Amino acid sequence: MLEEMNEKCAVVGIFGHKEASKLAYFSLHALQHRGQEAAGISSSDGERLRTIKDRGLVMKVFNEQKLATLSGNSAIGHTRYSTAGDDSILDAQPVFARYDLGEMAIVHNGNLTNAKEVRDALIRKGAIFQTFMDTENLIHLIAKSEKEKLLDRIVDAVQRIEGAFSLVFLSRTKMFAMRDRNGFRPLSLGRLPNGGYIVASETCAFDLVGAQFIRDVEPGELLIFEPDKAPMSLQVFEPQPKKCIFEYVYFARPDSRVFGQSVYQMRKNMGVELAKVRPIEADMVIAVPDGGVPSAIGYAQASGIPYEMGIMRNHYIGRTFIEPTQEMRDLKVKMKLSPMTDVIKGKKIIVIDDSIVRGTTSRRIVKMLKEAGATEVHMRISSPPTTDPCFYGVDTPDKDKLIAANMTVDKICEFIEADSLAYLDENALLRSVNSTDDHYCTACFTGKYII
Ligand code: AMP
Repeated sequence: MLEEMNEKCAVVGIFGHKEASKLAYFSLHALQHRGQEAAGISSSDGERLRTIKDRGLVMKVFNEQKLATLSGNSAIGHTRYSTAGDDSILDAQPVFARYDLGEMAIVHNGNLTNAKEVRDALIRKGAIFQTFMDTENLIHLIAKSEKEKLLDRIVDAVQRIEGAFSLVFLSRTKMFAMRDRNGFRPLSLGRLPNGGYIVASETCAFDLVGAQFIRDVEPGELLIFEPDKAPMSLQVFEPQPKKCIFEYVYFARPDSRVFGQSVYQMRKNMGVELAKVRPIEADMVIAVPDGGVPSAIGYAQASGIPYEMGIMRNHYIGRTFIEPTQEMRDLKVKMKLSPMTDVIKGKKIIVIDDSIVRGTTSRRIVKMLKEAGATEVHMRISSPPTTDPCFYGVDTPDKDKLIAANMTVDKICEFIEADSLAYLDENALLRSVNSTDDHYCTACFTGKYII
């Protein structure tokens, strides 16, 4: 259970701005794609911390009155994605606690790989947990540390955890931001337009609040924010970069710069590479929206085959409660993605998506396009076959549910009923993201786990 918590999420921290919680709120809107299950903000006015969090989208959790109660010059925020089944509001973040040094709140993106061992050891010593979140371990580790200052306690605590973590801590007067030694998940630092600083999972949050990008928080680095000072840096761990390549493939927003590069450009590059794999004659290239769009544009530019809008996405469909029968399930998919029949009818189509996980989306899309009159449907995937689950913060099903872990590409092609199917290989993907070293984690495609 523990390992399922705290999956792909977004974090933000605002320091030294009189509208801190409002800026955190706007930032969370920009980061909503990283998690739609729950959202929360903690703010500090220097005397005490206040927290509001709940299940649901940012827009649902907050309103003007609620934000007005989150006063103070500093705030941290979180949007949470997690697997179904844990619907407790306790599992929303920030995680807040009172302890001997006062009050603190923490937000976390990533997954701790030794969470169970640490938790069991804490429980044996009498600790009581309220949630299933691995982030709660940190609260206990900080509270129990023998060090005097919070900074030293944080350093103490993060030495005891392993895995993926981009963290932001808030105390009454300070803020801290930290990335694990591998820097699996992104975290960037920016300057706010009227003074103060912002840290956020993705730079699209900076653009929204008018912040200027300064730099990424480095792998293994802890940034310390104190009033009227520039952020101080402490390199807690020797950096061993293993940045998550899936951020470029699927997760991050195309208008963000992640790990120092434009997500949009990386995805276009993947499309260019994809055009070289098993080229095929077709009337048009289309994308599975929204994930496949930049790669489809890259594919079209490289191949000279026109890019068309072949599938329409309804952006207003959230989670629907209709599930039980197969007929209703198919209807649900069509509510979200529908074919542009006039564009597709009688045409040979190349359709681009970023990944195939269980294979259900691709299968439904091929069926939908054929029903709309496409004469041929050639599926192209802008990443290698997803063969292994992620333990570092991306929500993936167990290996037995990953279609590429259990079938060859030819068999998958048969299953999704496409006329052909091809993926990018690992080297082409690494080329697309300009990788010249061994600094990316590709475990979901290769099974090469480093922790
Ligand atoms: P599936 O239907 O299980 O094969 O899922 C494939 C679709 O899910 C693709 O359109 C991807 O864009 C999308 N996808 C890939 N990874 C994830 C993820 N971790 N969470 C949600 N959707 C994903």
